[in-house]
Amino acid sequence: MSAEKHVAIVLAGGSGRRMGMDIPKQYLAVGGKPLIYFALKAFQDSAMDEIVLVCGRGETDFCRTRIVEQYELTKVKQIVEGGAERYHSVWEGLKAAGECDYIYVHDGARPFLEQETICRLMASVKQEKACVAAVPVKDTIKVTDADGVVVDTPPRDRLWTVQTPQCFAHQLIYSSYQKMIDTEREWMAAGLRITDDAMAVEYFSDAVVRVVMGSYRNRKITTPDDLLLLQQMEKETSELR
Ligand code: C5P
Repeated sequence: MSAEKHVAIVLAGGSGRRMGMDIPKQYLAVGGKPLIYFALKAFQDSAMDEIVLVCGRGETDFCRTRIVEQYELTKVKQIVEGGAERYHSVWEGLKAAGECDYIYVHDGARPFLEQETICRLMASVKQEKACVAAVPVKDTIKVTDADGVVVDTPPRDRLWTVQTPQCFAHQLIYSSYQKMIDTEREWMAAGLRITDDAMAVEYFSDAVVRVVMGSYRNRKITTPDDLLLLQQMEKETSELR
């Protein structure tokens, strides 16, 4: 084990509204196991030292007994409740993580996280301090105005679809998030919307963020279509553990 401490924050604090189901998507069963299990298991099997699981209000007991204990996910050292927005949940996770050297924030709704991606990020974050898993876009991307009229077509060779894990030196992400949370009213009023963790570093620090090759398989389960595809893949390939 390395002398430096690596902590993963796995997010399961969303309501999964786009799924249109009563049960939050992270607990839906895939191959007999809750969706969130697969991301936790990927970190359990990696060189990560500890995992912080962020869940929804009133779900900590369920997560402890039915997921962490049941599947012997021994690296999960803390289970905390998240907040209204994704970045609030990350902030709760960061506070719970305590002192460490590197933080890896991951959407629990991405079950296909591969060990190769974790390894590439671990190597990169030591050099770069802020790096995110990403894949080159395959489609042409258009920017429109509010009426749907195309105003720009950015060159595709510089466009990336950004995923998680997003990885940072602990001090950098903690101080960036602290500034972001402290100034929330102002940037909300200015119309800024924070949709990933790298944005905290981009807007609230001087550090640069680098993309690291992820995997096209590492998709986020967002809508019922994604879940159907996941169940089909699980059945056909049995690649999920
Ligand atoms: O809603 P979205 O699919 O973007 O959520 C990405 C991840 O963030 C999911 O794993 C979800 O559970 C988590 N999340 C959270 N707290 C929120 C909203 C989302 O932990 N308030």
